[in-house]
Amino acid sequence: MAKTYDVVVIGSGPAGYVAAIRCSQLKLKTACVEKWINSQGNPALGGTCLNVGCIPSKALLESSEQYHRLQEGLDIHGIHVNGIQLDLNRMMARKDDIVLQLTNGISTLFKYNSVDWLKGHGKLLVDHQVEVTAQNGLVEVVTADNIIIATGSKPIDISAALIDNNQGLIVDSTGALNFRAVPTTLGIIGAGVIGLELGSVWNRLGSKVVLLEAVEDFLSLADQQIAREALRQFKRQGLDIRLGTRVVATEKTANGIKVQFLDRTGNHEITFDKLLVSVGRLPNIDNIAAPESGLLFEERGYIHVNDNCETNLPGVYAIGDVVRGPMLAHKGSEEGIMVAENIAGHHGHLNLNHNNIPWVIYTNPEIAWVGKTEQTLKAEGIPYKVGTSPFSANSRAKTMASAVGMIKILAHSKTDTLLGCHIIGPFSAEIVQEAVLALEFHASSEDLARTVHGHPTLCEVVREAALAVQDRALHKINA
Ligand code: FAD
Ligand code: NAD
Repeated sequence: MAKTYDVVVIGSGPAGYVAAIRCSQLKLKTACVEKWINSQGNPALGGTCLNVGCIPSKALLESSEQYHRLQEGLDIHGIHVNGIQLDLNRMMARKDDIVLQLTNGISTLFKYNSVDWLKGHGKLLVDHQVEVTAQNGLVEVVTADNIIIATGSKPIDISAALIDNNQGLIVDSTGALNFRAVPTTLGIIGAGVIGLELGSVWNRLGSKVVLLEAVEDFLSLADQQIAREALRQFKRQGLDIRLGTRVVATEKTANGIKVQFLDRTGNHEITFDKLLVSVGRLPNIDNIAAPESGLLFEERGYIHVNDNCETNLPGVYAIGDVVRGPMLAHKGSEEGIMVAENIAGHHGHLNLNHNNIPWVIYTNPEIAWVGKTEQTLKAEGIPYKVGTSPFSANSRAKTMASAVGMIKILAHSKTDTLLGCHIIGPFSAEIVQEAVLALEFHASSEDLARTVHGHPTLCEVVREAALAVQDRALHKINA
């Protein structure tokens, strides 16, 4: 007899595993199908984020930052350090250990919450059936009243530079998280989030990093005032960022990878030790649904869903990177919670406000934002006021020797409702949460300006920027 469930989730990344746990908490009999085999050759939960994405990249960002600070950042504190050595194997082992601890942690959470882990490839069939094909080829079919597809995304490959992580010369982010030696030169195609984060890691560890970016606008999704400051900071750090650059061909040579590219000044070529291709990601829909299932897809392969993540098939949902919206772990997790709660009918019909999803880029300085950018407000014709405040006027940032960057607050010019908050500076990832909460509660810039902030804290810059919206900042000259 086929196993039956209330819910079967396909995929155990931050979208799928959170959905599965929440379903189980809501007393729904739940299974999660996951096929991931980790670098030790074992089945693993956690998806891209935990195995080869958010977590290993943040582990290396932290380690490389510590190394870099020891080399260049401590003299100002009167601390002189000699004989610093890089043990890349140890650094990688620490990263792998964190990944193992966290992915094993999900397995424990599944056991505790009675979520069945069905190991193998899941495929949606007709009549609410899911086919699970184990690694050894054994096939099992299970049925469920509700099916949640959370199969994530995969890197885009471009014909001019085909990714081959096994060979290790032209790699995607997974390959660049596993270099066994610091490349002398690293070329990166795409100066987006992955290019900047992993470019920062290897730059700090000693590589000469060149980023070849197709478009002229740097970080086009970010507020362009913040993006300009970021570009200035990254260039100062030695990242060679070439905008408006088109890679036309690559060739493996005895010295590495020869990359030919075109920019406004003509044709160029550079030979790199390693080349990272990070030009975006596409939904992962390989063999996820039998054609007879009738599942509807959109352009570029996204599964078609409405605001509640319902697909065109009753009782079939899709969440995370495989559907529209930003490819961010927390966006997928929130969709997972929303779908689980809607299935259980606990809270009426919930949906997710995409405007209030924070973005973070974990470079140094960190870049973080929530809400609308100035260029979007202009394009949408929404009247707004701006308040900015630099970290250079903040005492905590000064004492940390991290007084770089700024916070920018955008508020509606008539109602004063907060519209956006854009940060470049120390611990932006943490600070932005204050603005996320404020947006969720429809706060005004006046609310932020009237909120008592501890002193000395970095968050005081949020308050100063809010005060600056009405030209009453206390720690800068108001225009
Ligand atoms: P995934 O995490 O991709 O998980 C999908 C899972 O489904 C995988 O485990 C896969 O094996 C499984 N699967 C696929 N098809 C099937 C099938 N047919 N049967 C069974 N299983 C299947 N986001 C952030 O918010 N913060 C960050 O700091 C961040 N850093 C990142 C760094 C890197 C290098 C990368 C690549 C991404 C990063 N992201 C980050 C993005 C984040 O990883 C994704 O947004 C997130 O993982 C999406 O979650 P998901 O659950 O939708 O999919
Ligand atoms: P991205 O969309 O952030 O950046 C891709 C960049 O490549 C863009 O700037 C684009 O203009 C450029 N590009 C596209 N085609 C090109 C070409 N042929 N030549 C040169 N440049 C080209 O994508 P990504 O960096 O690959 O990251 C994928 C996704 O993963 C991100 O969108 C993000 O959602 C997620 N991610 C998030 C984090 C985080 O939250 N901190 C970290 C890493 C990844």
